Amino acid sequence: MKAILRTDVGKTRTINEDAVFAGEGLYLVCDGMGGHQAGEIAAGMAVEVLSGALKKKRPGIRVLLSAVAEANARIFAHAGERTGLHGMGTTLTALWADERHVLIAQVGDSRAYLLRGGVLRQCTHDHSMVAELVRNGSITPEEARTHPQRNLITRALGTQSKVDADVFEFARQQDDRWLLCSDGLTSMVSDAEIAAALSGAPLADAADRLLEQALARGGTDNITLVLLEDEGGASHD
Ligand code: MN
Repeated sequence: MKAILRTDVGKTRTINEDAVFAGEGLYLVCDGMGGHQAGEIAAGMAVEVLSGALKKKRPGIRVLLSAVAEANARIFAHAGERTGLHGMGTTLTALWADERHVLIAQVGDSRAYLLRGGVLRQCTHDHSMVAELVRNGSITPEEARTHPQRNLITRALGTQSKVDADVFEFARQQDDRWLLCSDGLTSMVSDAEIAAALSGAPLADAADRLLEQALARGGTDNITLVLLEDEGGASHD
């Protein structure tokens, strides 16, 4: 897969608590949370543990879930050791590809999207309070975008002793475009705008356009994205 990465502190935050990774068929976006740079530490630990655990392994659901559990346990233990880090955690959106399949693991409100045949679809469900309210019909998706508690996530890596990750599997298709991103992008840029940016333009131009749009709308959060293009064939990168 061809990969383009962008991460930006945004316009109002002083530190970037998102973390991003790309290598050997594995792509990660993590959005850390917690005071005093604890979020940055949590997101960095998630990337370190997952990339280490999955290196040189063949993609499989059990291996992926056990690596997620390991990352969760390591962050949770680290948070318990220092009072300043108490409650730290991170979202995780992971994409892991072999020759024929893509696995996605999801915790929190970062997202994976797939553009296939000109149609964009969100492949993950947000683990957030507003997403639950939308699912049970209490509020509309439009109301969710401006809801005062729109940043409240219901699952995170490292905040509890155990974590329940969603896993999705897809068959790869040549020319598929995948987007992994933190909520600093999706809170500023609509799905229609994401679809427009991903359609047609070269990958790097699409990534630049999405980042510029998020910044132009205010950039009130850290903005991170991994954009992938499936070139087909057996190679991972
Ligand atoms: Mn965020």
